[in-house]
Amino acid sequence: MISLMPLFDTHAHLHFPDFADDLDGVLERARAAGLRGMVTIGTDRESNRATVAMAEHIPDVWASVGIHPHDAGEATEEDFAEMERLARSPRVVGVGEMGLDFFRDLSPRDVQARVFRRQLDFARAVAKPVIIHCRDAHPEALAILDEARVGEIGGVMHCFSADIAVARRCLDLGLMISLAGPVTYKNARALPDVARYVPMDRLVLETDCPYLTPTPHRGKRNEPAYVALTAAHVAALRGVEVETLGEATTRNAARLFGLALA
Ligand SMILES: [Zn+2]
Ligand SMILES: [Zn+2]
Repeated sequence: MISLMPLFDTHAHLHFPDFADDLDGVLERARAAGLRGMVTIGTDRESNRATVAMAEHIPDVWASVGIHPHDAGEATEEDFAEMERLARSPRVVGVGEMGLDFFRDLSPRDVQARVFRRQLDFARAVAKPVIIHCRDAHPEALAILDEARVGEIGGVMHCFSADIAVARRCLDLGLMISLAGPVTYKNARALPDVARYVPMDRLVLETDCPYLTPTPHRGKRNEPAYVALTAAHVAALRGVEVETLGEATTRNAARLFGLALA
């Protein structure tokens, strides 16, 4: 597929071992699909180091550093210190992913909340937007985001997984909403409604690769080029040209992360 419309993957994990063998090919396919950039997202100490190392060598890959709720229980003071040091790199355009995950509950819930609040404070201090991960914990996460006045920091609810009521609250808090592969699934539940509901200037797209591969490649490894499949699906749901959606979501991503895209 040759596509000249711009696209942007706001949430990838390109530094994961899944891409170690063929990263160059993955990036080439992304560029051929029209991607103007990708943000590779850190989740723990080792992964934060890897994101920044990658972004320092690849001009159209930027980095985010954070401590995922799954890793919150194990996070040490050294992990926070390292994250704060890495966040000073000009290639780091966001803090996260951070948040609450009460679906898998891999860290105690009170620790998840504490680590989440701490990263919100840190993002405010360094003036970088936040990347929020939230699963089965929307009332609790929205309360923390409200208390932290996240609208003043800026950020995105990544891989949005809830309904229109939650989407409205995220928008009211000042967040952008990011849709990933699940909006293309048969069991997408409320996501098609959300895809139609979010104003065009508040919507961004992501892959969350290597996970959440969109239809028709579901079950295989995901990669940034497939954000084009999600874009086509969301454009059809909204009844707009895919080029229009690609341009708007790319512009939104650039604004979110403070990027001047070529
Ligand atoms: Zn996530
Ligand atoms: Zn992720």
